[in-house]
Amino acid sequence: MNVQTIVGLEIHVQLATRTKLFCGCKLGFGDPPNSNVCPVCLGLPGTLPVMNRTAYEYAVRTALALHCQIARFTKWDRKGYYYPDLPKNYQISQYDLPLSFDGHLEIPLEDGSAKTIRILRAHLEEDAGKNLHEGLDHSRVDLNRTGTPLLEIVTQPDLSDPAECRILAEQLQRLVQYLGVSEANMQEGHMRFEPNINLHITDDDGAEYRTPICEVKNLNSFRALERSVAYEQWRQKQQWQRDHAYTQENHGKQNRGWNDDRGETVFQRAKEEAHDYRYFPEPDLVPIEMDDAWLAEIQASVCELPLARQRRFIEHYGLSAYDAGVLTAARSTAEFFDEAVAARGPAKRVANLITQQGLKIANERGCAVGQIGISAARIGQLAQLIEDGTINASAAAAVFDTMLTDQRDPETIAREHRLIQQSDAAALAVVLAEVLAAHPQAVADVKAGGKKTKKARGFLLGQVMQKTGGQANPQIVNTLLDESLQ
Ligand code: ZN
Ligand code: MN
Repeated sequence: MNVQTIVGLEIHVQLATRTKLFCGCKLGFGDPPNSNVCPVCLGLPGTLPVMNRTAYEYAVRTALALHCQIARFTKWDRKGYYYPDLPKNYQISQYDLPLSFDGHLEIPLEDGSAKTIRILRAHLEEDAGKNLHEGLDHSRVDLNRTGTPLLEIVTQPDLSDPAECRILAEQLQRLVQYLGVSEANMQEGHMRFEPNINLHITDDDGAEYRTPICEVKNLNSFRALERSVAYEQWRQKQQWQRDHAYTQENHGKQNRGWNDDRGETVFQRAKEEAHDYRYFPEPDLVPIEMDDAWLAEIQASVCELPLARQRRFIEHYGLSAYDAGVLTAARSTAEFFDEAVAARGPAKRVANLITQQGLKIANERGCAVGQIGISAARIGQLAQLIEDGTINASAAAAVFDTMLTDQRDPETIAREHRLIQQSDAAALAVVLAEVLAAHPQAVADVKAGGKKTKKARGFLLGQVMQKTGGQANPQIVNTLLDESLQ
């Protein structure tokens, strides 16, 4: 028996505009309920929506980064449904003429290979408000969120396991953050996922079955996305094994919810009950025509994309895949690294300073690495001092800490703290000669070879370090030691 999992993803990304999609109300998280509302987003009769141009540009910028075709003519449609959190009784969305279509996104798989996921379409629409079911006898409605611009991205069913779904979602988060079009803050619900999952099963006799496509609604974490797809893989297979008539033909499509505590999906409704949204063109908004100049302007705002940047760091600077991943997790970190390298900092040294110290401090303080108090240029200088042997790595760590509050150049700081490495071979040879004379037994152990050699060498090196206050350049001492003991 062969079982193939087929998943397509729908993702809603909240765009980081200052105001809503069709009115001037502020987008705020955690503001008092119904404080960011006006007649337009309250859906009062006689009001007219006006499109937020920035939201449209953010949507197109993202679509370009997803290698989509951009529609030169597009329009808005009303998607009718009646809910307390949608006072107009319809959502303004895009139906048959989405602003973009036919793109793709490359995702890195866990085995090191890459996979291309096709994008069916990406369109703009407004969000609904929020129903608060907090009492036994009543619910309340908060319309602050109503009219928030959402970019809906729909993939082709090219994903084939739960991990791929999570990776795509993570890549998309990094992408929209890089592009500056969304904060993509999961805690604030900026990204919501809806996987469509079914199985293609070929049994031992070669008969083929397709289980019903199940759409899991409204997932708001990577973990819930991955777990719900894994659960559906298991559940659909179980159900089909019990009953081979559990197929798409017999059951159609269904919507399911995710119960995070129980770790399972729950049946919501079947396709037979699916809404008829009665889409029709929105008469209150003019269609959008995209001319060459406007498109070129948006194209120019697309930055180097995260995966391309990660590859450049590996191929051009010889960084490990892990370090390149850490350095490109946030655009600000990647740009800081690039800037430090441009200031003539050796790439690997710079990478170590940023990943081992800079990011740790930035994370503790909840800020970007560029805001910890050390400029990229000074990181570059510090990296140079390690590279040319002026200071060793542990001294560099101490200099780094001082640099957080001391704006002088790293070499001055290192000198003041007596951290400059002693690299004068003649001076070190004198110290070494003293050490060798004082410890004949250790010298004999090294010369004898065998088990004791390594330990005795370490001991002699340690003595030199002690006599020089830890400032001897260990590489040079090692060379001198080799010469003396030959
Ligand atoms: Zn409003
Ligand atoms: Mn939608």
